Amino acid sequence: MVRGHKPSSLTEQVEGSTESEFYSPIPEGYQRGQHKYVVVVGTVMSGLGKGIFASSLAKMLKDKGLVVAPIKMEGYLNMDSGTLNPYRHGEVFVLEDGTECDMDLGTYERLLDQNLLKWNFTTSGRIFGEILERERRGAYLGRDVQWIPHVTGEVKRKLRELAVRGDGSRPADVVFVEVGGTVGDYENGVYIEAMRELAFEEGPGNVCFVALTYIIEPPALGEQKSKAAQLGIKRALEAGIQPHIIACRASRPVSPKVMQKIAMFSNVPLKRVFSLHDRESIYTIPEELRHDRLDREILSILDMHDKVDNSAEDGNREKWMGFVRRLTAKKSRDVRIGVLGKYAGLRDTYASIDKAAEHCGAHLGAKVTLDWLETTNVTDANVEALMDGLDGVIVPGGFGARGVDGKIAAVRYCRERGMPYLGICLGFQVAVIEFARNVLGLHDADSTEFTPNAGHPVISELPEQKRIEGLGGTMRLGAQDVQILPGTLASFLFGGRTMIHERFRHRYEVDPEYIERLEAAGLVFSGRHPTRPIMQVVELRRPGDAGANMPTHPFFIGAQFHPELTSRPLRPQPMFMGLIAAAIEKKYGTKIDPRDAWAPELQRWMTARMGQVQTV
Ligand code: GLN
Repeated sequence: MVRGHKPSSLTEQVEGSTESEFYSPIPEGYQRGQHKYVVVVGTVMSGLGKGIFASSLAKMLKDKGLVVAPIKMEGYLNMDSGTLNPYRHGEVFVLEDGTECDMDLGTYERLLDQNLLKWNFTTSGRIFGEILERERRGAYLGRDVQWIPHVTGEVKRKLRELAVRGDGSRPADVVFVEVGGTVGDYENGVYIEAMRELAFEEGPGNVCFVALTYIIEPPALGEQKSKAAQLGIKRALEAGIQPHIIACRASRPVSPKVMQKIAMFSNVPLKRVFSLHDRESIYTIPEELRHDRLDREILSILDMHDKVDNSAEDGNREKWMGFVRRLTAKKSRDVRIGVLGKYAGLRDTYASIDKAAEHCGAHLGAKVTLDWLETTNVTDANVEALMDGLDGVIVPGGFGARGVDGKIAAVRYCRERGMPYLGICLGFQVAVIEFARNVLGLHDADSTEFTPNAGHPVISELPEQKRIEGLGGTMRLGAQDVQILPGTLASFLFGGRTMIHERFRHRYEVDPEYIERLEAAGLVFSGRHPTRPIMQVVELRRPGDAGANMPTHPFFIGAQFHPELTSRPLRPQPMFMGLIAAAIEKKYGTKIDPRDAWAPELQRWMTARMGQVQTV
């Protein structure tokens, strides 16, 4: 496809040319001008909430009926986020297809209420991996593979492929590109250069650059200063990126004087400089940006006003604001949930749990406070102190043996004292271990993850994982079907559905050898793999449901999957709803019995969500 070294059209700047300096592969079906791009870059410093800002922008446009496709581009060299320590980098988020990615993807999914896939995330490691693989295939036809045009060419290819894929059913009207880090970082320099090239190739009116910056307010001065922001934006200008819009993060609303200075030094009209100061809730950001007309400015820059569906927007805004009102309303009830994690103290480590609890609190009219608790020194003897003041307990996902005995002591307390319990992944596994030890009487029951030679390995490595070496990408990952047993708590929570689809990330599972014995002693496996003996939901019978001598509990449930990953503001996850409802009942005594349709709030929500609630 080489047509000389002076291409007359974009599509001639193609892969595999030995004569041309250009390398900008265009995927099949791509039409320039059909897809627009909003590129969000950070300046001054990271940690400003770029992901929240970028997803709020994407939401504003999606609400108008446009198809949006976000992508987060990370500078680091890991192939994905799977091997990153959540203590340093925040939670590892998992997508439907098993992609392990940055927690910002969770923010996009929650704000857009849209499932994302591997195309919506990349790292430098992944891009280089693909380039090296191409190079070995000889796909560069004798060319030396260069940062420019080849690496930048692959970056642009990714964005254009995403534009064609869109949201999976329709091509994207707007691709939202979030470049990780800040402009001027060595690590993301190639992304910034690729964005400059993209804007040039796509032409005016097709790419909108949004720079997020930071306005410092030194306490000693008590006044906002714009210099750091100016210097940050200069770095973007030096790299050939002229921002169209500048959003100024600050703790207080940005003063007109500072906005004017920013406008003056960066060639951006004042009406396109926005104050993005701290808000009570991130969920109000889209509405506030709309109020400031940021959405209209983007539409003007991209010449898209005629594509907007105003009535769709009104409906979407109304629904969203309904949630925001419930979220911010003064609550007459409050419940306290203990989250017994290994990385207690760092909210980002369990960001999705935090969000899921928040969604459910809003829908059930309760303020939910999460207490992040360490279990390293917890034993049967002192667990009572840990549980003091809690209305419910979550044992979240985790890896490694540290703190596991404390978690088992906590699970025992919950099981014996009727404390509402939700176990997630590791929390599912420790619930099974605790039951095997203290009810079934297998005192050396354990997981082979913690005790490789356990006398009773009730949790052991999945057979398919045993064959894989190394740590990266060796887990059972992504969304899978879970068959739900009718008549159980799980069945009630999921509105009587017999098949659900939830996201997994684990290496160990209940050893099938023990299933029968555990069940005979009263443990209920209410969710299973549809065809194989993989246990996916565990629970105890509720009072009144049990046969003679069976252990019962008002709310005790565990999932081998991660329910927190699929909770959305307008569609809170049922197991979290159940936990919070049970915690409310524990504290306030609202009658909760599935056959009486549980707490009225839960019942109302269930009915609205699933139609007729099916109870036992
Ligand atoms: N460590 C356990 C496993 O690999 C649990 C994993 C998790 O909680 N995400 O199976």
